[in-house]
Amino acid sequence: MNRREFLQHTTMAAMLVGMPVASAESQAPEIALTFDDPTTDGGADLTWHEVNERILAALAGNNLKSILFVCGMRVDSNSGRQLVAAWDRDGHLIGNHSYSHLYFNVSTDRDPNGFEKVTLADFEADTLKNEPLIRGYRHFTRLFRYPFFKEGDTAEKRDGMRAFLREHGYRVGRATIDASDWAIDARLEKRVEGRPHADLAGYRDFFLQHIWERAQFYQSLAQRVLARSVRHTVLLHHSGLNALFVGDLIAMFRGNGWRPVDADYAYRDPVYDLHPRILPAGESLIWALAKESGKFEKELRYPGEDDVYENPRMNALNL
Ligand SMILES: [Zn+2]
Repeated sequence: MNRREFLQHTTMAAMLVGMPVASAESQAPEIALTFDDPTTDGGADLTWHEVNERILAALAGNNLKSILFVCGMRVDSNSGRQLVAAWDRDGHLIGNHSYSHLYFNVSTDRDPNGFEKVTLADFEADTLKNEPLIRGYRHFTRLFRYPFFKEGDTAEKRDGMRAFLREHGYRVGRATIDASDWAIDARLEKRVEGRPHADLAGYRDFFLQHIWERAQFYQSLAQRVLARSVRHTVLLHHSGLNALFVGDLIAMFRGNGWRPVDADYAYRDPVYDLHPRILPAGESLIWALAKESGKFEKELRYPGEDDVYENPRMNALNL
C-alpha cells in the first residue's frame, strides 16, 4: 500500500467508526469578527437602532458570537446603554476599549498630528473610568483593546500598561488582522450625505476587496512568523458600512474557504498571550510579532494600516 492508498484507507476507516479526520473544514483559516466603538450617531442614513439591528441580524443569521469593544464616551447615555445591552442579550462579549479613546503613543505636548500627550497614569485612569459602563453586563469580559492599536511609545509606558492590565485581570484584545474599514465608512458617509438613494455598490466592493487583501497579507505573514495557523480576529467598526455589508463580508470569507468562528473561541488561542517587545508598541498582533522577529522589515510599513494607503485608491475609483 502506498502512502496515498494508506491515507485513503485510514480516512475511510475513521469515517466508518465515527472518528474525527482532518477535513478541509478543520484546515480552513478561522476568523472571528470584532467590533469597536459602538456609537449612537447612526450612519449610512440609518439610525443607531438600525445600524445595531442590521449588524446583530447578520451575526445571528450566521450563528456567530462576536465581541463589542466599548469606548465609554460614545455610549454614555440611555441610548448607549440600550445599544450595548442588545449585544449582551444576543450573547456577544463586551470588552473594554477605554473611556476617551486616547492616543497612547504620544509623549510630547507638540504632537504633529495634534493628539494630546498621554502619560501611563492618564491611560490607566481612562481604562478604569470605562469599567462602570460595561462591567454589569452578563457577557462582560476582561479583554482590553488599545485605541488605534497603540500600546506605548516608551518601554515604561508599554510595560507599565501591560503590568496594569495583568493586575486588573485583563488580557489584551488584539486583532491579528488590522484594516481600515473606518476610512471606507468615512467616504461612504460623505457620499450618503443629502443623497439617501446614492449607489453604494462601489463601497461594498472596495470594502470586501480591502478586507480580503489584508486578511491574506496577515495570514501569509502569520504562517511565516509563527509556522502555524492562528485563530484570526479582524478589526471592524460599529458603522453604517458594516450595517450594510457585514453579511456580504461573512459570505465572502466562507466563499473563499475561511471559517468564521466565535470571538471567545478565537481568543482562547495562546497567540493572544504573546506580548511583542517592540517600540513603538502596537499595530496588529501579527505585524508586531513580525517586527519583533526582525526578519520582515521590507514588508512592514508603519503604521500597519491607515487611510493614507486607501484614500488614493478610493480617489481613483471616485469613491
Ligand atoms: Zn477605537
